[in-house]
Amino acid sequence: MKKINLNISDTFNKELPADPNKNNTRRQVHHACFSYVTPRVPSAPKIIHTSKEMLEEIGLKNGDEETEHFKNIFSGAEILENTQPYAMCYGGHQFGHWAGQLGDGRAINLCEIEHNNKRWALQLKGAGATPYSRSADGLAVLRSSIREHLCSESMYHLGVPTTRSLSLALTGDEVLRDMMYDGNAAYEKGAVVCRVAPSFIRFGNFQIFAARQDYDTLKKLVEYTIKHFYPNIKTKGKESYIEFFQQVAERTLDMSIHWQRVGFVHGVMNTDNLSILGLTIDYGPYGWLEGYDPNWTPNTTDAQGKRYRFGNQANIALWNLIQLANALYPMIEEVEPLEKILLHFKNEYPKRNKKMMLSKLGLHTDDVDSISFINQLIKTLQITETDMTIFFRNLANISKEEKKIGENLKIIMPAFYRPSEVVNEIRLEWEKCLSQYVELLKKENRNDEERKEKMNQVNPKYVFRNYMAQMAIDKANEGDESLIEELYQLFKKPYDEQIENEKWFALRPEWARHKVGCSMLSCSS
Ligand code: AMP
Ligand code: MG
Repeated sequence: MKKINLNISDTFNKELPADPNKNNTRRQVHHACFSYVTPRVPSAPKIIHTSKEMLEEIGLKNGDEETEHFKNIFSGAEILENTQPYAMCYGGHQFGHWAGQLGDGRAINLCEIEHNNKRWALQLKGAGATPYSRSADGLAVLRSSIREHLCSESMYHLGVPTTRSLSLALTGDEVLRDMMYDGNAAYEKGAVVCRVAPSFIRFGNFQIFAARQDYDTLKKLVEYTIKHFYPNIKTKGKESYIEFFQQVAERTLDMSIHWQRVGFVHGVMNTDNLSILGLTIDYGPYGWLEGYDPNWTPNTTDAQGKRYRFGNQANIALWNLIQLANALYPMIEEVEPLEKILLHFKNEYPKRNKKMMLSKLGLHTDDVDSISFINQLIKTLQITETDMTIFFRNLANISKEEKKIGENLKIIMPAFYRPSEVVNEIRLEWEKCLSQYVELLKKENRNDEERKEKMNQVNPKYVFRNYMAQMAIDKANEGDESLIEELYQLFKKPYDEQIENEKWFALRPEWARHKVGCSMLSCSS
């Protein structure tokens, strides 16, 4: 049998304390960063999609994805030679409350590899129960796996820091899920995704040791993380821990800004879902802003408090960083440097957000007029349902030239969900807003062409709207996996004009407005 060849280079399970108990029983695990665990053997595995780019990134060759060996490794049927798969121990704050030990309940790290001087951890999601599965089954269904696989790859091409995805496999097993938590459980197709990232360490990995006052293991984990993932930190001891926290905060801030730029709502920003590398991680009930609404959240579990709504994501990132600061405090024993970093995040976010908004608008001039325009625009975007992606993309077509009243409005008309509403005051409001924009453009020395080119580099044309995911899911559930590849290809170039793909540059269709999986999602996956 042809074997795939990976350059195995394990560190996490070699350098950090392991759980001595090798039984796969659910339990509290103390003084250990992980537990050894073997993936569950699926009954009829089948790889249904591979990211060819990720294949190359990890040093595999085109064609490897068609081998029996690849299928076995990335569905959990077989373990690579000289590897010891494991599940990580972590805790976390869920919806603002400390939840104790969580851990990889359905994620199993296969190994780490090195290729082209990059380190990658390969992790199966949905490959069976682990000591951290609590009362759940350790499995994942096709619908959530398609969403994770395609969205992580599309986020990468949007330029948003993210974990990646190598492959998507069907297990051949059925998985019972009560999708809307309403007592209507049904069997769905089981699936396994192979996620890839330099590391899957989360804020919660540090929190669990701090909560248990196991400062010895906490220190080992911090030192390990700095050594492998923050090698530019040259200081030692306390100073290096402070620098580490500062860089984590910086990366988290950068990630938050990117989310706001592309209209991504994570949906479950619990501290166990925040990567210590500032990567978007754990694609669950996420969504993309369609009608521009800062209060929107796709997660039905969060429908009441809307803690994780679009407009609150940076606040929550900061809240999560405060929890991380608390976890690191015992190693630093000084409040001030940590507070300074948190304060910097708080002050810096509005500045960076403004800069990002100016780039979306194609404006250079950062003066009172442009700031007041941003505030005005955010209000105007909400007077009638206006598609964020289409609006910003079409805005680049507005020119500095004086136009007849109404002509600029025509350019952004395709972004309105209810064009018939755009009359009277709403129309006047929009016309006023656009003529203010033209005034600002006149103050800029860039010409229309240059500005458009720059704007189109930050305002994507194609984003992975929930209804698109749902279409791919519905087809795949019927055995047709072609839309997965079509969307994968589409999202490789989200900023490009793709004439053949114009149909995906469109408003969310009306059928998707209230459909489960499109407008609302639960955590069930
Ligand atoms: P999430 O909200 O998906 O980030 O998950 C929170 C916690 O629940 C993590 O510890 C997950 O590993 C665990 N979890 C979620 N779904 C399952 C499942 N089907 N089986 C076992 N553990 C799960
Ligand atoms: Mg999670």
